Amino acid sequence: MSLDTSTIDSVAELMVRKRPTVALTGAGVSVESGIPDFRSVGGLWDRFDPAEYATISAFVSSPKKVWSMLHELGGTLDAARPNAGHEALAELERAGVVAGVITQNIDNLHQAAGSEAVVEFHGNGRWLICLDCGLRVDHATANENLDDDRIPRCSACSSILKPDVVLFGEQIPERALTSSYELASMCKVMLVAGTSATVMPAAAMPLLARRQGATLVEVNIERTELTPQVDFTLRGRWAEVLPALAEAVLSKLDRP
Ligand code: ZN
Repeated sequence: MSLDTSTIDSVAELMVRKRPTVALTGAGVSVESGIPDFRSVGGLWDRFDPAEYATISAFVSSPKKVWSMLHELGGTLDAARPNAGHEALAELERAGVVAGVITQNIDNLHQAAGSEAVVEFHGNGRWLICLDCGLRVDHATANENLDDDRIPRCSACSSILKPDVVLFGEQIPERALTSSYELASMCKVMLVAGTSATVMPAAAMPLLARRQGATLVEVNIERTELTPQVDFTLRGRWAEVLPALAEAVLSKLDRP
């Protein structure tokens, strides 16, 4: 698929003129980093029924079983590296054009690429948290402390550790909600990438941004339910579109 350079140029012009831009990202941006969409065929939820493996009640009642799935997920996350799209977004943040990214992903790839203002609706799989004493540890450290059932244990109280991600049946962190509403309310351009933003609270973000007068730009390889509501559509792969967009933005910033 060839990129629509004229639309990229129009969006870049807008991002330079109307600041800041905020990005809302989902599973699609991580596919090119080797993390299949959990909901896709062959994805995590195709092999592990989330009702059985990804609810907080399943975790509490059968941690050994749920951890068998989590170890596989951990291996996928460990092997993943940020792609050119993540890097381009981080570059736009350093350039002062992007104010932050709100993500539905738990893979830490935005941070690994250098983005600093990252709001995570569903937590971050890189971290584990003790359900009893609240200790938060890097998953690499925790994996050195597995019990006979291969369940990581808290080094402070020996209780079971849970990934610091939002399982089904758990609340979205209050802090993430507050920060995302702030970003969506203040942005002048919102890039919605790799997600159709149909699930709450992500679904509220483009609507809120638009109500405050922001321009909506969709970056996706395919048409989504959001497409009819956006002002611009950049059809293509995230890892191709974002670098092209960043290059166009940066060249306009350099212009005297
Ligand atoms: Zn503990």
